[in-house]
Amino acid sequence: MYTRIYFLRYPKETSDQPIIYRLVKSYDVEFNILKADIRPQRDGIMVLELKGQKENVQDALDYLKSLGVKAERLAGKVRRDDKKCFQCGACTGICPVGALYVQRPEMEVIFDPEKCTACGLCVTGCPVRAMEVCFDPLTEKSITV
Ligand code: SF4
Ligand code: SF4
Repeated sequence: MYTRIYFLRYPKETSDQPIIYRLVKSYDVEFNILKADIRPQRDGIMVLELKGQKENVQDALDYLKSLGVKAERLAGKVRRDDKKCFQCGACTGICPVGALYVQRPEMEVIFDPEKCTACGLCVTGCPVRAMEVCFDPLTEKSITV
């Protein structure tokens, strides 16, 4: 599954249009709104995660651009809050690239940010939300999903 996170700037002319609905209906992509501030007749912003076939995600982006929406890809990073993590190991079976694994014999759950592709699967899979998506330096704060 191709996954990308975008920072979108909506012109006020599009604020009342069902853009996300059309994205899903016409381009067969899944979405996850990580942050949004859209108000009637005002320019708006949204941090949007898109998942699907690569060509579908790109077609969806072209659609957004055709409406005047500026889309900037975010280099989302995932980090672990070690104060929250209680080493349960649930995330190690979720991570598709082995960025979360159990180190033996200590049985310590290790997070290797170098391997992480920021797919976000562990973020929702962690029972205490110790894994966070962050978008520094653009928003200068993290978003827990
Ligand atoms: S699922 Fe969460 S609490 Fe459990 S080891 Fe992974 S990061 Fe830590
Ligand atoms: S975001 Fe994806 S690649 Fe990174 S640690 Fe979590 S599950 Fe693994």
